[in-house]
Amino acid sequence: MTEFAPVPDFAQGPEIPESGFVVTDLGGGVHGVTQGMVNTMFLVTRKGVVLVDAPPALGDTLAAAIGEVTAKPVTHLIYSHAHADHIGAAHLLDQRGLKIISHELTGEFIKEAQDDRRPLPTETFSGRRKELDIDGVRFVLDYTGDWHQAGNLFIHLPEQKTMAAIDSFSVKNAPFFRLVFSAHVPAYFEAMDQLLEYDFETVVSGHMSLYGTPEDVQTNREYIHDLRTSAAKALQTVDLKEAAAAAKVPAGNRQAELKVWMDAVVARAAELMPPWDKHLGGTDIFLADNLNAAAWSLFLD
Ligand SMILES: [Zn+2]
Repeated sequence: MTEFAPVPDFAQGPEIPESGFVVTDLGGGVHGVTQGMVNTMFLVTRKGVVLVDAPPALGDTLAAAIGEVTAKPVTHLIYSHAHADHIGAAHLLDQRGLKIISHELTGEFIKEAQDDRRPLPTETFSGRRKELDIDGVRFVLDYTGDWHQAGNLFIHLPEQKTMAAIDSFSVKNAPFFRLVFSAHVPAYFEAMDQLLEYDFETVVSGHMSLYGTPEDVQTNREYIHDLRTSAAKALQTVDLKEAAAAAKVPAGNRQAELKVWMDAVVARAAELMPPWDKHLGGTDIFLADNLNAAAWSLFLD
């Protein structure tokens, strides 16, 4: 089995009890909830609960988690984006009177998916911004670009100084896999700068069990810039024909040449990366995938 670096202390989240979840008071009526791998947030208003996403990893325990804080019903569900790992338990909520809000691109994606677990939104918006007043609480929903998936939102609660930026990064950890499976890598790089323009103290970013600060966004920003710089240098120095010859690719197999070239680019870029393991967990796990995404984007975009 592959050897992995131990999870550093700073990246350790809370112990998950037998209930399967931990609810964290984030202030101003906002609560984070996690089961260790996936997280999201909800806000209690005078009349009910506004929930962001309904991750299947939490599933039925989501109701129990909210029940730890309030007996009020979920009145509003905001979809951060269409991916099943974040909203695939939406069907478990009581749908009677439930308002489901998303960007219209998210609605279109769900329609195409034809997945009973992901009910269609009841209200969508197009364009960049939608401001909501839900029972006296201001929600700003922003679609600033397809940094993760078309229709993905930054959800800002200005008075609570809290953000949900689901699948934007992992707090105290390297981004998952290919820059969190970004649909558009240049937009992903921009997203960190966009996030830092908001006035917030806490960000809920969708995975693992820690909640972040602007400093954590800044750290991810610096990390992905190092990924890009290293990938750019490697692209300039690794030659396709030399890489193919070194790997003894049979003459004429151009697809294999391309594959070993990119593998060599990623290997070279990994050597060029400054050490990050004292600042982020998971760098050893996701380095090659992240460099591959950064390098192809630099090559293609
Ligand atoms: Zn996603």
